[in-house]
Amino acid sequence: MTQIPTEPIGSIPRPAYLQDAMKAFSKSEIKEAELNTLFEKATLETIKELEATGSPVISDGEQSKPSFATYPIHGYPHLAADGVVIPFADGHTRQLPKITAGPFRYQTFASSYLEKAKRYTLLPVKQAVIAVSAISLLYPPEGIDGYAQAQFIVDLLDEAEKDIRKCLIGGAYNVQIDFTEARLALKLDPSKQLLNAFIELNNKVLDRFTEDERRRIGVHTCPGGDHDSTHSADIPYSELLPLLFKLKAGSFYLEYAAEKEKQSVLKSIKENLQPGQRVFLGVTDVLNPRIETAEEISELLIEASRIIPLNQLGSTDDCGFSPFADDISTARNIAFSKIKARVDGTALAEKKLNSR
Ligand SMILES: [Zn+2]
Repeated sequence: MTQIPTEPIGSIPRPAYLQDAMKAFSKSEIKEAELNTLFEKATLETIKELEATGSPVISDGEQSKPSFATYPIHGYPHLAADGVVIPFADGHTRQLPKITAGPFRYQTFASSYLEKAKRYTLLPVKQAVIAVSAISLLYPPEGIDGYAQAQFIVDLLDEAEKDIRKCLIGGAYNVQIDFTEARLALKLDPSKQLLNAFIELNNKVLDRFTEDERRRIGVHTCPGGDHDSTHSADIPYSELLPLLFKLKAGSFYLEYAAEKEKQSVLKSIKENLQPGQRVFLGVTDVLNPRIETAEEISELLIEASRIIPLNQLGSTDDCGFSPFADDISTARNIAFSKIKARVDGTALAEKKLNSR
């Protein structure tokens, strides 16, 4: 009996009332307690809607995460706004903050989101954390007086390990490391030095876990998805995948539905996927509002199964549907419909493969 596991990436667009409340809070128009009540309401509603899609594994939709990348530093007292700028294909940018003093400590651990989500569902809950490589970009190139970069990295590795371990102990079905800067690293530095450095840094965290624990740890990468635009889709996967699969993780959640050269992507995955690793292919394009049919998703998976061993194959969405809290480019109902199509399409592929 063939089974193809299917999992979400994580984020779901926040409902309009929550967007409004977040704006009002930033202008001190409402109290934190009021905002927190709405975070809870949105989390509960999102979980119920995810359950209704039939998804066997769910997330909290990241309703109360400020963004997939910045939750650990939300409220960190030593921050300046002018950090690394990430340019997107449509011309818009996102700028990371930078830290101005140490010692560096996470202000929020992802397990706090997991703990709340688990109150609302009996289904397995997956929890996303940010890659240590992304947070490493917060240290300014000009350095910090009295807080060397080497010490920052020591502190950061400890915090990132805690972030994952708390989720594993807290009962996460699995933990997904969001590593969306992987492909971007190749764009910023075609010599691959930056990507190699990122992978080495992330492996320093993964090395702190046993093989058994690493089976519950995965990595997501994609060309970025914000306001329906990407930052590195022009970099071919074949450049990235040989290095990506060196990460000592059990699962890989890859953007795939929006890729044009699917055959070469599949071949590259097959060449580089290590024994014991599983690849979850994105079967829904999160940047395109058209809702995929279950039939076309099943065909996509069956086609992939001709190249990738079935016991190493799974399905997912290309990315989260709203990695930044203020991104409202995808409607909530579209996100849920796409997730339902993924769940139905994956079941259909299983059925077709089993009846052969
Ligand atoms: Zn992504």
